[in-house]
Amino acid sequence: MGLIVQKFGGTSLANAELFHRAAGRCIRAKLEGNKVVVVVSAMGQHTDELVDLAYQITDRPSRREMDQLLSTGEQVSIALMAMAIHHAGHDAISLTGGQVGLRTDKSFGRARIREITERNRILEHLNKGSIVIVAGFQGVDEALNITTLGRGGSDTTAVALAASLGADVCEIYTDVDGIYSADPRIVPDARQLQYIFYDEMLELASLGAQVMHSRSIELAKNYGVTMHVRSSFSERKGTDIVRESSDLQQVIVRGAALKKGLARVELVGAPNRPGIASEIFRRVAEHGVIVDDIIQVIHKGASTADISFTVDKADVESIRALHAEFAREMPGMNMEVRDNLAKVSVVGVGMRTHTGVAGRMFEALHRANVNIENISTSEIVISCVVSADDGDKALRAVHTAFELDHSPAGA
Ligand code: ADP
Ligand code: ASP
Ligand code: MG
Repeated sequence: MGLIVQKFGGTSLANAELFHRAAGRCIRAKLEGNKVVVVVSAMGQHTDELVDLAYQITDRPSRREMDQLLSTGEQVSIALMAMAIHHAGHDAISLTGGQVGLRTDKSFGRARIREITERNRILEHLNKGSIVIVAGFQGVDEALNITTLGRGGSDTTAVALAASLGADVCEIYTDVDGIYSADPRIVPDARQLQYIFYDEMLELASLGAQVMHSRSIELAKNYGVTMHVRSSFSERKGTDIVRESSDLQQVIVRGAALKKGLARVELVGAPNRPGIASEIFRRVAEHGVIVDDIIQVIHKGASTADISFTVDKADVESIRALHAEFAREMPGMNMEVRDNLAKVSVVGVGMRTHTGVAGRMFEALHRANVNIENISTSEIVISCVVSADDGDKALRAVHTAFELDHSPAGA
């Protein structure tokens, strides 16, 4: 007898009929002899609607109250899921994040899980034969404020529970058949992968592949949780997310991703002296802004430097506020913002041992007539920042260039 965690995303729970369908899956797993824990997201677009409602009230909602509000979406889903299972004649109990003791830090809107204190309580219910349904995306901090884990965070709740309970597998039920070589909504030729390594999935998720919450993969890797991503609308086998092993193919490029909604901040004429970068980025971090792709250019013989970095478009206002402070302290330093950018990336562990990948990517973008604004690389990733208008075209171009549409990537 095994223990399975099953997570159902919003599109898999968009209406009453879909609750019955999802309930059927959980019951089937139970009848096959497993203990079953179910993690659910808010129904359909419910979270977006709640965000929208908040902004109808005020354009500066308190972060605490925002989490209080958004967590209600998942609370609706747990109760409905329990009712659907009861309706089919089986035992089930619904529990909120707080009720399973899912403790987080106090960063509203992007809280990190610290521990799950009520593990034994969950096990007791499972041992009594109940299916346990837990609200995804939410927890409580040490002062019992409700926190949320960031958009898409129910995946992370599922993995955390799977790790804590020592589950045999964490199944993620969603609206696609599994992980694809790129977002199938943008790249119609994308292929479903049979497996993908944690490190590759982690990079793809951080670089825009919204199919998985990136922190869920970080946790799965750290705790060795086997994950299987599959469709809640079909019986097809999905994609395994697994530890790297020499039995499995180390392809050069496993997948490609596109991150939209980026902006580039350029600080022109920053003083060229020790401590400036540290001062600027300490203050940027204090404003809670996450930065990537930093470039510093010092012109020959000049006493100033140009520093540029990429941020989420949503953070541009915070950066502008910061610039007003800098302008007082570092007169002469100007700020320019380009906020219509996207980043296209290719990811694969085989890059560690192969050369020529960057050249192939640049050539593909050149052929597609896409201008590269900035390039960054790491051990298993190459990324190019491009104009947002070219984003979809760029993703399709690199996907074709690396033959992801027909190579047996992960197959
Ligand atoms: P859920 O509501 O089930 O959590 P999400 O909307 O968060 O579902 O994630 C599923 C979506 O992720 C898919 O509909 C797909 O468009 C998108 N997606 C982006 N990149 C990928 C990829 N590489 N493979 C599969 N789906 C992807
Ligand atoms: N309901 C939350 C969201 O829409 C969490 C999730 O779906 O994973 O972001
Ligand atoms: Mg999701």
